Amino acid sequence: MATFVIVGAGLAGAKAAQTLREEGFDGEVVLIGAEEERPYERPPLSKGYLQGRSEREKIFVHPPYWYADQEIDLRLGVTVTGIALDAHEVALDDGSRMSYDKLLITTGASPRTLPGQAYTLRTVADSEALKAGFAAGGRVVIIGAGWIGLESAAAAREAGCEVTVVEPAPTPLHRVLGPELGEVFANVHRRHGVDLRLGVSAEEVEADGVRLGTGERLPADLVVAGVGAAPNVNLAREAGLEVGDGILTDAALRTSHPDVYAAGDVAESYHPLYGRRLRVEHWANALNGGPAAARSMLGQEVVYDRVPYFYTDQFDLGMEFSGDTRGYDQVVIRGEELEFIAYWLREGRVIAGMNVNVWDVVDDIQRLIRSGGPLPPQD
Ligand SMILES: Cc1cc2nc3c(=O)[nH]c(=O)nc-3n(C[C@H](O)[C@H](O)[C@H](O)COP(=O)(O)OP(=O)(O)OC[C@H]3O[C@@H](n4cnc5c(N)ncnc54)[C@H](O)[C@@H]3O)c2cc1C
Repeated sequence: MATFVIVGAGLAGAKAAQTLREEGFDGEVVLIGAEEERPYERPPLSKGYLQGRSEREKIFVHPPYWYADQEIDLRLGVTVTGIALDAHEVALDDGSRMSYDKLLITTGASPRTLPGQAYTLRTVADSEALKAGFAAGGRVVIIGAGWIGLESAAAAREAGCEVTVVEPAPTPLHRVLGPELGEVFANVHRRHGVDLRLGVSAEEVEADGVRLGTGERLPADLVVAGVGAAPNVNLAREAGLEVGDGILTDAALRTSHPDVYAAGDVAESYHPLYGRRLRVEHWANALNGGPAAARSMLGQEVVYDRVPYFYTDQFDLGMEFSGDTRGYDQVVIRGEELEFIAYWLREGRVIAGMNVNVWDVVDDIQRLIRSGGPLPPQD
């Protein structure tokens, strides 16, 4: 009987295991996760769960009994410490080894840290610690105006904290959205009382505050580092798999070894639509990439070419983003101040779109991106 091992029990890993069973695979499926929690979704950790609005049980990908029902051997609190590609074996942190016929790596990413006492946000425990910290009130300094930094800022404000966000770029989300749309997020946060310090870097996290590059000290009761995440590629690199920014795969999510696959945050996969490899740290990529890798492991013809998709909720701004803005030369905004669709174009073609407080338009936006065509006139 064939054994398929999945390293990393997050969303991508759990969805891959589900797909293997749905597609009729009757061999052994082993899902190994370093965390003690069964697979869960991370988006609520910086939104509803952090704000105490969603129940704990709602964050999990499957109910607890599901794994036994599906005969999925879920090993929690177990870390894979090595992969022997030629022997088709993984080494576990309890000293044992396990053979596989096919291996899927879904080890995700880990938050970048800063020296000093700063909170990071990746796990349920991180979210619970932050929730308790925000509940105590006081002064919160958030380093980084990316998605995690901004969502944490919104949650801290809603909990009644004084919030300052420090960001070296001239607008929030500058790298992903550019200055035009970054300014929209800046305005939303300012309107809700967040003190944004843009164009300034944090030099050091000290015991009772943050020292800025300008020499100014911001006193803080709690500091959050929202400075990005790094893919967990060490296992793959040490095993000898090809690694760039993430684990390199083709469009079928196969790595440089024919029996090893990668999906989710850790994978840097060839994307036929963009004609290059992309590493996508978004929920939808784990949700769909895990199943695509599973089908590929089963020998099905797979071309994973989903348009990257992301969503966020901050204060009164809800939005969905599709595509990739890299190389854009024009932004067109259609709509009103907080109810609009923004399109990013390169040489007249739509490459990305973002709907803000406008719903049920993602399919249309993604069709437009896929078609490689111009923006149709407004009706
Ligand atoms: C707070 C937060 C909010 C987010 N909000 C959004 C959002 O609003 N919208 C959106 O699109 N995306 C969001 N994301 C991103 C999204 O959650 C990720 O893209 C998604 O979780 C990736 O899933 P994954 O399965 O690839 O990796 P992960 O969820 O990181 O799971 C990987 C798992 O592998 C385990 N692991 C790692 N190494 C080993 C090893 N050697 N042995 C065993 N296990 C190992 C890890 O412990 C981890 O549990 C958010 C992320 C965070 C952290």
